[in-house]
Amino acid sequence: MEDCLFCKIARKEIPSEVVYEDEWSLGFLDLHPLSIGHTLVIPKQHAENIIDLPDELVGKLFGAVKLITEAMNNAFKPRGFTIGINHGRISGQLVDHLHVHIITRYDGDNGGSIHSVVKNPPREPLEQVRSELKKAVDSLQSKKNKE
Ligand SMILES: [Zn+2]
Repeated sequence: MEDCLFCKIARKEIPSEVVYEDEWSLGFLDLHPLSIGHTLVIPKQHAENIIDLPDELVGKLFGAVKLITEAMNNAFKPRGFTIGINHGRISGQLVDHLHVHIITRYDGDNGGSIHSVVKNPPREPLEQVRSELKKAVDSLQSKKNKE
């Protein structure tokens, strides 16, 4: 997209600290790192979020995430990682172009886990939630199988 910040970075119209590049994906350092090596991985093709990303590019993107995570592990020797996507404004997505954060984690870094992001457990029993979601999954799967 013409005015998208991350599309401009992917097209090299805006400079960034690139750490990884292949035909489909680009990895570059976050300008405001939460820890050393904090990297963003994006598909070069514009997609607002993972739902918007064509199926064939999902594996390419996560292949890049895997390689960069292993490289960060070798380069910075963290104790672990938080790897995540803010999807939608409510979750904190600031740029409307899918990006995966890879964040190194260390003892005493004052961070939390994914479990600390939201405290909104459902009232519905798990079986009811499973049933609703499974119905939606089955519907999408049968739609894809017809394509
Ligand atoms: Zn974009």
